[in-house]
Amino acid sequence: MLNIGRTAWLLCLVSCVHGADRVAVEQHSGGVAHYTVTIFDNLGGARVRACFNGVIFAQLVPINASAASRLRGAWIDGLPLEIRDGRILLNEQRPPECVDYETQFERSRFGLGDSSAVVLSQSQWLWRPEPFPNQVSTSVRFAVPDDGRVSLSWPQSNGVYHPNRNVFFDETFGVFGAFNWQAFSVANARVEVARLGATPLEGDVRRWLTRAVEATASVGGRFPRDRLQFVIVSVDDPGAEVAFGMVRRGGGSSILLLPSVGVEVAQLEADWVAIHELSHLWLPRLYAEDRWLSEGIATYLQEVLRARCGLQSSDRAWRRIREGFERGRRSGSGRALADESRNMNRTGAYQRVYWAGTAFALETDLRLRRRSNGESTLLTVLNDAQRNWAEETRLVGASRVLAALEQSSGAEFIAALGERYAASSDFPDTTYVDSSEYDDLRAQISAPLDGGCTVSGESSR
Ligand SMILES: [Zn+2]
Repeated sequence: MLNIGRTAWLLCLVSCVHGADRVAVEQHSGGVAHYTVTIFDNLGGARVRACFNGVIFAQLVPINASAASRLRGAWIDGLPLEIRDGRILLNEQRPPECVDYETQFERSRFGLGDSSAVVLSQSQWLWRPEPFPNQVSTSVRFAVPDDGRVSLSWPQSNGVYHPNRNVFFDETFGVFGAFNWQAFSVANARVEVARLGATPLEGDVRRWLTRAVEATASVGGRFPRDRLQFVIVSVDDPGAEVAFGMVRRGGGSSILLLPSVGVEVAQLEADWVAIHELSHLWLPRLYAEDRWLSEGIATYLQEVLRARCGLQSSDRAWRRIREGFERGRRSGSGRALADESRNMNRTGAYQRVYWAGTAFALETDLRLRRRSNGESTLLTVLNDAQRNWAEETRLVGASRVLAALEQSSGAEFIAALGERYAASSDFPDTTYVDSSEYDDLRAQISAPLDGGCTVSGESSR
């Protein structure tokens, strides 16, 4: 197994066929796309039959450039098609009903999986029609060797998956082969979990993830998604309880978590990574230059929610926030925050971006609470504003998020404050937070919730 290292948490980058579950299939008057994906016996690639009805297209193209090299060939009725830069060219006036193609899987960048199961992005096997139709109803069926399992974040019914259109543009995690699988409901969300390697046991995983989902749902007494898939892979990293986490949204919401081998369930519950990744789901996907906002709010929530839900003490939450600010102040490349965000995967300025964004979240929360006597908070406003982008599958700008927060709160400072943070090349001044003037508000923010953070399924929707 891999050793990812303590600093890997910073790389917070950017969703089984076990009988039918209730599924709301999107109804479209447009075209239909159906993919049948046959995974090879060695789990090293797939043969795909893509059939279309009412879809006019000239090519089948990969989701991203890095997937282009995975294509091994394409055929119609056994006759080879021309391939150029990973694109399948049809060269016909009238598109055919079905195209066959083969792809070879790249080994996961995390080295996840073993001989019995693989963790894959759908970009490894899904080619989309281009031009892409305005409306298309998509279904996907899998054949996995040795009656192996499938785990994906997409709604499914009787073994047929129905992802939303974002599946053609944004990556997600899929697991194929022999692995441990479990499912349960929490905060009215259906949770599916795939476990690979020497992970914590089923009951411990359920306890850990239930607490994390409930803590995240406590923002608004509801979880912002109907369904959620976790991929849990144990790694050998004694330096951290959870070495790494990542959320992906291609066709559904999927979270990868890499707990360290042998970690205790109490340690997992107290850890921040799962709540951080889940908190991202309150927000839309943001452009690279705006990631200070999404990472800042997720980082703020990971500390505040754990204190509110009794997963860490209030003192510890504030200590961690202060220490984070210090790390953020010491790091970075001197760029304005929006530029730091755009470049952070190259410059490594994660601490600066995450914690400057956290300073924005804290300042916004404090100012909202002060002007409303605690009635309006960053959490209540986020819960309301999230309905603005709940169905959004495309990348969104910070200006839209800030405007929605402003509209939900009636507070007119938020957009201007966000613009000031984004343009500043200095780490924000956070010394005011520790003044006695803010003692009551700090206590209010991190005070344990009356009745805890349990969000019942009935009351959440
Ligand atoms: Zn993050």
